[in-house]
Amino acid sequence: MTLALVPLSVMAENPTVVKSPNGALAVKLECTESPTYSITLNDAPMLDASPLGLVANFGDFSRGMKVTDCKIDTVADTYAMNRSKASSVSYKATHLVWTLENANKQQMQVEFMVADNDVAFRYFLPKDGETGSVRVMDEATGFRLPEGTTTFICPQSDAMVGWKRTKPSYEEDYVIDAPMDQKSQFGHGYTFPCLFHVNAPTEGWVLISETGVDSRYCGSRLSDYQDGVYKLEFPMPEEFNGNGTVEPAFALPGSTPWRTITVGNTLKPIVETTVPWNYVKPLYDASTDYQFGRGTWSWIVWQDGSINYDDQVKYIDFSAAMGYEYVLIDNWWDTNIGHERMEDLIKYAHSKNVDVFLWYSSSGYWNDIEQGPISRMDNSIIRKKEMRWMKEQGVKGIKVDFFAGDKQPTIQLYEEILSDANDNGLMVIFHGCTIPRGWERMYPNYVGSEAVLASENLYFTQRSCDMEALNTCLHPFIRNAIGCMEFGGCFLSRRLHREPNKGNYRKTTDVFELATTVLFQNPIQNFALVPNNISDAPAVCIDYMKQVPTTWDETVFIDGYPGKYVVMARRNGDKWYLAAVNATGEPLKLNLDLPMFKGREVQLYSGGNNPSVAPVKVKAKGLYKVTIPSQDGMVMVTK
Ligand code: CA
Repeated sequence: MTLALVPLSVMAENPTVVKSPNGALAVKLECTESPTYSITLNDAPMLDASPLGLVANFGDFSRGMKVTDCKIDTVADTYAMNRSKASSVSYKATHLVWTLENANKQQMQVEFMVADNDVAFRYFLPKDGETGSVRVMDEATGFRLPEGTTTFICPQSDAMVGWKRTKPSYEEDYVIDAPMDQKSQFGHGYTFPCLFHVNAPTEGWVLISETGVDSRYCGSRLSDYQDGVYKLEFPMPEEFNGNGTVEPAFALPGSTPWRTITVGNTLKPIVETTVPWNYVKPLYDASTDYQFGRGTWSWIVWQDGSINYDDQVKYIDFSAAMGYEYVLIDNWWDTNIGHERMEDLIKYAHSKNVDVFLWYSSSGYWNDIEQGPISRMDNSIIRKKEMRWMKEQGVKGIKVDFFAGDKQPTIQLYEEILSDANDNGLMVIFHGCTIPRGWERMYPNYVGSEAVLASENLYFTQRSCDMEALNTCLHPFIRNAIGCMEFGGCFLSRRLHREPNKGNYRKTTDVFELATTVLFQNPIQNFALVPNNISDAPAVCIDYMKQVPTTWDETVFIDGYPGKYVVMARRNGDKWYLAAVNATGEPLKLNLDLPMFKGREVQLYSGGNNPSVAPVKVKAKGLYKVTIPSQDGMVMVTK
């Protein structure tokens, strides 16, 4: 429930300054010809005056604007989540509705939520006379970071390139600590979320993304840096195989999605932010009590050749031996096993107390994917029939792969798949896809999205293995900070191949891999373990992997720097898991402050590739000194 507290004031001052509940964060709104907003934290600039407004097909709301009204009140809410950083979230924000009018007396409102460490805003358009719908031709929305800011951002790829012409799918290398005027790799700007390090006059961190994107809009991104501004951009015309317009449309009255800006003097508010979920609502009720958990998947190491009945039996047995809830049967099962024998395989899995996820391609007429099943998720008639079959067989979820970018028709497809799946009690994982934008709360059967250079790349290239530690130290601050990340990781094999003397070499230690199970968050984790790990991996690792949870009641950032190291803690019930990894080339000396372990004896997993677990006592004040070798990590668990 959202509580609207006593309105603070009703005014139309220009400029106007609105402060967050604790007064530290301030947004200044000003309209001279064009509307702008700027953000300060403790009076230090975090975002300089940046453009607001949009151009609709029936009117220009970006220039010639005049402020006609401004209303401010306070909103507060507490809500439950079962698949992200925290199980109970409370927020309080100053809520401002700024009404503007253009020269033709057409109205637009900009609605702001100003909380202590984040700002969210969206545009609202009323009905315009007889006009009951809008095409948004362009958003003026921009982000002007202070001079000297450096960037931790991921370039948008070309469209209709890569494997079977499936890009963009948010699978590019990050640019780390780069100057803002460095050109993007492909000339198409950057995908959300985008992290910025403000260096002067006061150090700060700014994470920009968006939320509340559903079938009524497209996914957006940031442009290249031009004239001091990153501008919000719509999808590229080539996406979705050139079908569908770039410009989103919705019915009036209606709103755009929320643009979100998380701000801190440290990285703590970035890692812990809940702004992707605060201002969105569930769009339907869960049809059943969805259960999250752990899974195995043969494809990640045994690849396409393992998608046959006998190898899947081995993985079902493996999941059962680990006490895992799920097995994920990946691409080509329709050809290599077939629907009929799949029914037997599902029965076998159930006999072992293991539930099944099945892979599908999203396509469709938007790429060249051959691996099946194809043409089952793109069409509502066939999709509903297929999902009814899955429901009859007791399948618990689907992994849908190879989407077509961010245009509105693709966002509509995500929503239709989720909605139909819920009608049949199915959970949904997306791969080859866009990032979630509030979907953990909006869609009760949504599990997670890839939208990252995920574990498959460690199998594909040695370069990815060489960069594994570095990339691990980016995701908690960027990609995984705004939503579930279906990474499919944690390898315990030294070489990543079905045959023991083939494949890329893993550069991280075993304990590093264990730490990723806590650092990476997704409510179902399909781990990259292989059946022989039960006998060839250290027993201490296998025992850990049997008990590690995948859902969390609390998430706390402890220490770190993007690309270098990260230390964070998550709580499941009364158990805290603290994980740390070091991506630098040197041993990392840390003086940690661990309030959750004050004066307690905890289990410490350490020792790199000779892992062990031993009890350690944390001092009464919670201070703990440790040195972590390069490419290594540690995990501490409440006893
Ligand atoms: Ca992928």
